[in-house]
Parts: sequence; structure tokens; C-alpha cells
Amino acid sequence: MEDRDGKIWMDGQMVDWRDAKIHVLTHTLHYGCGAFEGVRAYNTADGTAIFRLEEHTERLFNSAKILRMKIPFSQQEVMDAQKAVVRENNLESCYLRPLTWIGSQKLGVSPKGNTIHLMVAAWAWGAYLGEEGMRRGIRVKTSSYTRHHVNITMTQAKAVSNYTNSILANMEALDDGYDEALLLDASGFVSEGAGENIFVIKGGVVYTPDLSAGALNGITRNTILHICKDLGLELIQKRITRDEVYISDEAFFTGTAAEVTPIRELDRIEIGAGSRGPITEKIQSAFFDIVNGRNSKYAHWLARI
Ligand code: PMP
Repeated sequence: MEDRDGKIWMDGQMVDWRDAKIHVLTHTLHYGCGAFEGVRAYNTADGTAIFRLEEHTERLFNSAKILRMKIPFSQQEVMDAQKAVVRENNLESCYLRPLTWIGSQKLGVSPKGNTIHLMVAAWAWGAYLGEEGMRRGIRVKTSSYTRHHVNITMTQAKAVSNYTNSILANMEALDDGYDEALLLDASGFVSEGAGENIFVIKGGVVYTPDLSAGALNGITRNTILHICKDLGLELIQKRITRDEVYISDEAFFTGTAAEVTPIRELDRIEIGAGSRGPITEKIQSAFFDIVNGRNSKYAHWLARI
């Protein structure tokens, strides 16, 4: 990804894409303490807009707070930086990646004595789990890896280090011929995908794990809660077992990258009719109306660049 034209915002300045580099002795590279965000901008009828920019930026600052890192910029500056990156790179719809990390003044587990840094990059990125997956649904495997316990790494931080667990689960699932992994929490209850929250539908009711299962408090997850209310769908947050997913009528993943991706199989067991279900399709369509600026009720979630 490094050899391309474009600009990346780094510590307050726009730098050329190829020059946006850090030192090999960067603390975060060695010990994994850092935080990031995944954000999307959509090409709406009124121009390009970043979806739920404030919420993503707030979560980045909360992740840093949990990790005891003090970002040396204000939330407003980080929001302005994200808008500027989309503009500078002439992007219409794109994925944005803000990342905060600990510098390279000093190694040793204690990060004290290091500066804190922040960058924002953006690039065009289509459907994370594939266009076909969006229509047909994807095939998922229950991971042999357990999701982080809430008191091991901090699960409400979108921490860099949490993603080793996601990578292991995702690689295992892909090596076994699946599209994505589903992780269970330390008690065996459904937590989340490697980079997505999960929802299941049974008898017209929508269920999603409550956050005590160690899932990230997804911003797309929250958007789905609003959509369910608007569609008159009952939404219950509770502990969910793996076999409840097997016998659900429909299931789907949500995430900024994954958007709303139907799940058609878990562990080679077909969910419902083994394709995108009708309620999932309704929710998916409502989601795309909102992010693309076609639902005025949520116009305040779209930050024009
Ligand atoms: N869980 C994990 C582990 C993730 O990486 C993501 C993607 N950020 C999500 C859930 C979904 O969160 P969001 O909808 O805020 O992107």
C-alpha cells in the first residue's frame, strides 16, 4: 500500500503518501499499545460525507483513554484532519484509517518518556467481505480462538493489540475455506466476528450479544439498533449461544468495513434458507439509505467534507 500517490495527515501535517513513515524502534510496533478507527465516507447526492464522524472520533479518544494514551490533538482537530484527508486525496467514497501510536524515544514495557502520535489515511475500499457476500451471504466458522476476556485486553478499546486475536481467527477461517470467523467469549457465548458485530433473527425478533461478551461497541451495531426501532423490529441484547445461531432464521455481520453482510452458513450448517433473509435485506437496504444520505432523519450523521 505504501507505493502510491496521495497525502496522509501525520501529526498535524499533510505528508506525501510515500513519506509517511515511522522508525523501527516505535514502541507500538514492539508492544502493541495503540488504537485506531475505521471510518467510511460515502458519495451522497449532496457530495461526499463522512458517516458518524463524531462517534468514531470519540471512540478513538476513548480507546486512547482506556490505554492511558493522551492524544496531543483535540477531537475537533482530528475530525478536521479526517475531512481534510478525504478532500486532499480527491476521494468520493472511501475508508478512513486514523491511528494513534506511541513513539520511538524509548523502549521497555513502560511507555513513559515517549511522545504520542496520530495519523489519518484514506483510500477507496469496496465491500470488505465481497460484493457477492453482500447479496448471497457469507460462510462463517466458529473460531478455535476465544475472544478477549473483558479484563485481559480492554474490549471497548479499538486497540491495535486486540487484532492479533482477530487475525488468528480470520486466518484460521480462511485457511479452512470460510469467509470469516465468529469468536466466542471465554464462557463460550457468541461474541463477535474478527472485525464485525453479529446479529441473529428468530421469529421476527432481532438479537445481538450484549457487550459483556467482549464485543466492540460497534457504531454500525448502534446504527442497526436505530434501524430496528424505525422498522418496528424488536431488538434484544442478550447472551447468545452458538447453537442459537445455527437455528436462527437469519444472521448478519455489521461493521464500518463490512457494512451489513448477511451470513448464510455457520460451521457448514445453513442458516434459515441458506441465503440473505428478508429482514436482513430490509435492514441492509435501510442502512445503505442512511449512509448514502437518502434518509433525512439521519442527515446529522453525515459530515460534509
Ligand atoms: N468488532 C470488531 C472486532 C471490529 O474490528 C469492528 C470494526 N471496527 C466492529 C466490531 C464493528 O465496529 P464498527 O461498526 O464501529 O465499525
